[in-house]
Amino acid sequence: MIRRIDELACTGCGVCAMICPGDVIEMDEGKKARIKYAKDCWTCFSCELACVFKAVDVHPFRKPKPMAW
Ligand code: SF4
Ligand code: SF4
Repeated sequence: MIRRIDELACTGCGVCAMICPGDVIEMDEGKKARIKYAKDCWTCFSCELACVFKAVDVHPFRKPKPMAW
């Protein structure tokens, strides 16, 4: 599931929001990408691969692993 978008690294190009097959990412008024509905993320990695500025972090697991203790 998408975990984080680095606000400082994001240039606001909008590619991640455009390429996402869901409605997970939106562009805010400050022209930065932000996570809108993280739970709708398919973990397809399209946004992470498309962001040439390495601003998007997608975790390989759909849900965080439970704590071991
Ligand atoms: S693709 Fe990267 S730089 Fe472009 S809007 Fe998305 S996070 Fe920002
Ligand atoms: S991993 Fe796929 S579904 Fe999830 S936010 Fe990125 S493009 Fe959208």
